[in-house]
Amino acid sequence: MQCTEVDATPWLCFNPHVEKDTYIALGSNLGDRELNLLRAVAEIGKLPSGKVTALSSFYETSPVGVIDQPPFINAVLRLTTGLAPHDLLNRLQYIETAIFSRKRTICRGARTMDLDLLFYGDEVISDEILTVPHPRMAERRFVLQPLSDIAPDLIHPVLGISIADILETLRSDETVVKI
Ligand code: ADP
Ligand code: MG
Repeated sequence: MQCTEVDATPWLCFNPHVEKDTYIALGSNLGDRELNLLRAVAEIGKLPSGKVTALSSFYETSPVGVIDQPPFINAVLRLTTGLAPHDLLNRLQYIETAIFSRKRTICRGARTMDLDLLFYGDEVISDEILTVPHPRMAERRFVLQPLSDIAPDLIHPVLGISIADILETLRSDETVVKI
């Protein structure tokens, strides 16, 4: 970033992106699932311009959608980051494919690692590549339960209600067990 104005705030010259609190859902149902999640947290923590500032408990959860597959382990973390939204998604997808050799064979099928961007601050984004808030999160106990561990009072910027309230009114028979 270039500073053209003499009285430009010096901070802006060095921090082109404002830091945002982002929330990322992690899921794995192949290989050593728990170790996979721990590795993913470490890899996300190594991304430039940010740090992991909260991590939920780990949950064993029944598969949703394609139900003929092994149970998942899911968690949610908060990443405070200066990365722009699409840049962050790219880096999460790089971790899925390069670190975890994830193959995108069956949609919603078994995977070594799934990293979904739930929230990017309170921004609402919808294009061909990225939708934020994540469009299916409000129906998924396996996302809402761990998210509620670390951000129960966070307000969903589209629904206008808190994570705890969305979870409270959720009707779903998914099994979500803390491990
Ligand atoms: P799913 O997580 O729904 O099982 P994938 O992980 O294979 O499916 O992602 C499918 C596509 O969803 C990706 O190519 C990505 O571009 C897109 N996508 C859109 N919004 C998001 C988001 N908020 N987080 C992660 N992926 C997203
Ligand atoms: Mg995904």
